[in-house]
Amino acid sequence: MRLQVENLSYNYGTKEAVKQASLHVDAGEFVGIIGPNGSGKSTVLKNIYRGLAPDQGKILLDGEDLLSMPYRRSALKLAVVGQENEVPFDFTVEEMVAMGRSPHKKLFEIDTPKDKKIVRHALEHMGMEQMAKRSYRFLSGGEKQRVLIARAIAQESDFLILDEPTNHLDISYQIQIFDFIKRLRVTVLSAIHDLNMAALYCDRLYVMKQGRILMEGTPEQVLTPEKIYEVYGVRSTVLKNPLTGKLSITFLPEAISA
Ligand code: ADP
Ligand code: MG
Repeated sequence: MRLQVENLSYNYGTKEAVKQASLHVDAGEFVGIIGPNGSGKSTVLKNIYRGLAPDQGKILLDGEDLLSMPYRRSALKLAVVGQENEVPFDFTVEEMVAMGRSPHKKLFEIDTPKDKKIVRHALEHMGMEQMAKRSYRFLSGGEKQRVLIARAIAQESDFLILDEPTNHLDISYQIQIFDFIKRLRVTVLSAIHDLNMAALYCDRLYVMKQGRILMEGTPEQVLTPEKIYEVYGVRSTVLKNPLTGKLSITFLPEAISA
């Protein structure tokens, strides 16, 4: 599955949030979008998962126009873990995850044993099986995030769109979830807040600033101290960790780097 975004622009009223952004994700790639708060990462993702409709530009999945695809078909192709995690009704954890099965089913069709098994596995993978009957609304931010990831897994599409998926999670769950997603061998496009996580897991990165894609490349190409300074205005040292073979970034306070 290949995703291609061409010259995407999106405005919230008069606020230009995304300007002429082009990117692609090839089958099997794990691609990250990094950039400061407010740079447009979520807006790009929302346009791709049809939470917003682009003002300009094209979004193609395997060459097919995503925006004119029936919703069910696009839901079979891509699963989403967004940033806003509130739901209006009092669903249980299990019910939330079972929603991931709906694109595979007819309207009002009941859950089959296969659906139930898939939901149970997804919950187990996220360490949530004990919480299946709990009310989603009263979970902590981190627990909610794990439920939403379980739902995306239950959807069984081979393209995952993630918006800072491990935002509320402690380091052990961050690693567990990224490792798990990596092992699924699906294609991933994810906004990632943490540059060290991006360096550990991504094959390629897009860097956004003020609504534009400023640069693109492998973590080695993009995560240099010069470029990090250009984008975030923060000094850093970047070293290759001998154990992981991945970059490791240490940020330097002005007081030390002066
Ligand atoms: P990021 O995910 O990189 O933090 P966003 O895509 O959420 O950035 O936001 C990009 C810009 O659009 C920001 O300036 C943000 O304030 C603005 N923005 C986001 N959502 C809305 C909205 N619903 N209405 C108006 N402006 C918005
Ligand atoms: Mg965001």
